[in-house]
Amino acid sequence: MAKRTKIIATLGPASATPAMVRKLIEAGVDVFRLNMSHGDHAGHEAALALVREAAGHFRRPIGVLADLQGPKMRTGRLAGGGPVTWVGGERTVLTVAPCPEGTAARVGSDYAGLARDVKPGNHLLVDDGKMRLLVERVEGDDVHCLIEVGGKLKNNKGINLPGVRVSAPPLTDKDLRDLAWAIAHQVDFIALSFVHSHADVVDLKRRIAEAGGCAAVVAKVELPEAVEDIDAIARESDAVMVARGDLGIEISAEWLPMVQKDIIRAVNRHGRIAITATQMLESMIELPVPTRAETTDVANAIIDGTDAVMLSAETATGAYPLEAVSTMSRLALVAERSAYLVHVEVDREPGVFPPASVSLARAAVVLADERRAAALVVADHDPQLIRLLCERRGQTPVVAACLDQAEARRFALFWGVFALVGEGEDLIDSVVAQGRALKLFEIGDELVVVRRQPWDAIVVRRITA
Ligand code: PEP
Repeated sequence: MAKRTKIIATLGPASATPAMVRKLIEAGVDVFRLNMSHGDHAGHEAALALVREAAGHFRRPIGVLADLQGPKMRTGRLAGGGPVTWVGGERTVLTVAPCPEGTAARVGSDYAGLARDVKPGNHLLVDDGKMRLLVERVEGDDVHCLIEVGGKLKNNKGINLPGVRVSAPPLTDKDLRDLAWAIAHQVDFIALSFVHSHADVVDLKRRIAEAGGCAAVVAKVELPEAVEDIDAIARESDAVMVARGDLGIEISAEWLPMVQKDIIRAVNRHGRIAITATQMLESMIELPVPTRAETTDVANAIIDGTDAVMLSAETATGAYPLEAVSTMSRLALVAERSAYLVHVEVDREPGVFPPASVSLARAAVVLADERRAAALVVADHDPQLIRLLCERRGQTPVVAACLDQAEARRFALFWGVFALVGEGEDLIDSVVAQGRALKLFEIGDELVVVRRQPWDAIVVRRITA
């Protein structure tokens, strides 16, 4: 059986072609991310069509995640597409006035409040903190800076203002347009950037429901105030992303390892999906092999209870997108088989799951593992029961029998779940037939079928001719 940890790959110029999308799915991608910070709706529509086409080809429930930019400050576009070099000790201006052709001396920013929010003495960290500017003075729309740490600046790079209270609302006008697009195009997951508190998640869920959408919500934790509110954010979200790029700057890189563990644990406690993101295989943007630090980071995130790991520039713009996904898949396979992978049902928040489901799931996982069953099969359309079967991190894969592709795609981020769409009268018979066709099971294998409806039952079924 395939790896159990889910992989999210960001689409971009390095990967958004029909051939590459198919190869990435074969290499282990479960969800493709459309980063709304880059590109336009026509481009996202084309990328979405590529994914749906490739998923149809493999008959696999591959999910699509639209990641809203949020009040992320970015530098603007550069003359000739960039890059430009910022030299330490020299000066530059960041301006909120129109600046379509930025240079090393003057670069635009899409955040209109920038000149209002910063003061002399504040620091601007650019491109995940790779470059550092010191604000010397603000004149109208222009922020005059000393380049303290220089580097190569590319188009549209992120700006962080650690210690500065940013006045931007959680959903910008651009986010609202992107949200309407994502709902209209029925993407499976919508990620909210720069969540301040659980109220932002509740607001997004209300907007999705009012627009008739049903996308699951991913809360990106990247601000210190979101870390403070993590329990309530986990409770309100379908999934939580440890967005280490911005988080590592906002809380400092030294604290990130511990905060990452705290977030994953809180998310597990609430029975939600934990995603670990950013710089997981960063060196593979330029090289075909990962560093030792990266392989250790990915394995540790999985061992700590991450359901899904995410690739950003590695697959969007990197030179080795396929190698990055294959590396991630191999790392997941080895970590999942290690003795260090323990179940994640530690210290569960009371009331998250019905007690009857908890004991049923526990019994089913023990039975399936001890009998070396080929799969645990569930046809109840009950995400909580499926979640419980996964969180014990048992050896037996979980097969969710679904009614349609949209339901199946909802499980694309669940650790260890293989969703199959059943047809005809008996969903389980249909799923068994498909599993055989896909070579997931063979004659003689045992399946452990778990159900809560019409009454709680665990049935062992042997596959016969
Ligand atoms: C992050 O900051 O880690 C992240 C995933 O967000 P983005 O890539 O949108 O900056």
